[in-house]
Amino acid sequence: MKRIYLDNAATTPVRSEVLESMLPYYKNLFGNPSSLYSYGQETKKAIEEARDKVAKAIGANSDEIYFTSGGSESDNWALKGVAYALKNKGNHIITTSIEHHAILHTCQYLEKQGFEITYLPVDKYGLVSPEDLKNAITGKTILVSIMFANNEIGTIEPIEELARITHEKGIYFHTDAVQAVGNIPIDVKKINIDLLSLSAHKIYGPKGVGALYIKKGVKLHSLIHGGAQERNRRAGTENVGGIVGLGTAIELITNDLDSHINKLKYLRDKLINGILEKIPYTRLNGHPTKRLPGNVNVSIEFVEGESMILSLDMAGICVSSGSACTSGTLDPSHVLLAIGLPHEIAHGSLRLSIGKENTDEDVEKVLEVLPNIVNRLREMSPLFKRVKEEKKLV
Ligand SMILES: *Cc1c(COP(=O)(O)O)cnc(C)c1O
Repeated sequence: MKRIYLDNAATTPVRSEVLESMLPYYKNLFGNPSSLYSYGQETKKAIEEARDKVAKAIGANSDEIYFTSGGSESDNWALKGVAYALKNKGNHIITTSIEHHAILHTCQYLEKQGFEITYLPVDKYGLVSPEDLKNAITGKTILVSIMFANNEIGTIEPIEELARITHEKGIYFHTDAVQAVGNIPIDVKKINIDLLSLSAHKIYGPKGVGALYIKKGVKLHSLIHGGAQERNRRAGTENVGGIVGLGTAIELITNDLDSHINKLKYLRDKLINGILEKIPYTRLNGHPTKRLPGNVNVSIEFVEGESMILSLDMAGICVSSGSACTSGTLDPSHVLLAIGLPHEIAHGSLRLSIGKENTDEDVEKVLEVLPNIVNRLREMSPLFKRVKEEKKLV
């Protein structure tokens, strides 16, 4: 049975070109980049080449890119780093209610340290209102952190406008762009961003490596103290292979970004339209057009997301539920609740995230299998039976 992988928002497979570029750094080229002999210098050079590639992909200067262990570290660094550096200036940070846990849980930690956090609400599409941001800024605000695009419902935020409002008040603007990089063209100078987080394993690179873009002059404390790596700002012997892999991955994805986006959008729309047409009592979550090119998120009434996932898994199809139930709790996703979905509908949600490996046949297979799974599960649902009788549904 062919496996159909539709969970590219969770992680992506490593491209073969990426792996090939990494391998030498696990074989012959193992020198420590901080060493002075030529063996170390070769790995040092590889890191700087990767830095150039990351910088070029997002319109930054190379000396504004700092390698980290991934999106989570970059988010932690941006938030804690600015909070500690500017704590004498103010203690207020603004973010949104739909951020990734790497942001939300860091904010909760900072609250315990005496910082005040405003969690901006979103509308039914998951959009943050620029007006709300304007009203939330106070004389104590030191940082605004708003994700570029949401990992669950795919909504793309009006980042340029949000950054402009933030800068009018002279406040730093950070964006978690882990889902946006490689899916939306990004130019940090044009949009005027101070800090941006990205991760390799969401763009066909290896896990455990990412970067934080820090605009020249932005003040923030270090998170990892030790050696002088990353221009004294992020200690620890560099993850050379991973960094090289990130460089290759980001270069490859941005080199043919337009065709990548078009392909994903085509498959996405085919999948969305097919699901909404073939399965009654379904709705699309997230914005219909301001949406990541590979994101499909639907609520399917009268069924549990987890049951659908298990049934799809038996058919070789990997998707994710809307509940992002990583904690093992039964709480539905904070994102779906933030867009106003009632608990029972949030529980019946699926995220299918398309990637560069997916084909027309993959989408057709899902459209063939999923309606049968939903029918079968609904037939077993006493709730559906009752509603069917009461409302005389089909
Ligand atoms: C995956 C993801 C992260 C975390 O990145 P890691 O590299 O897995 O630590 C952070 N933010 C968003 C929006 C993500 O999708």
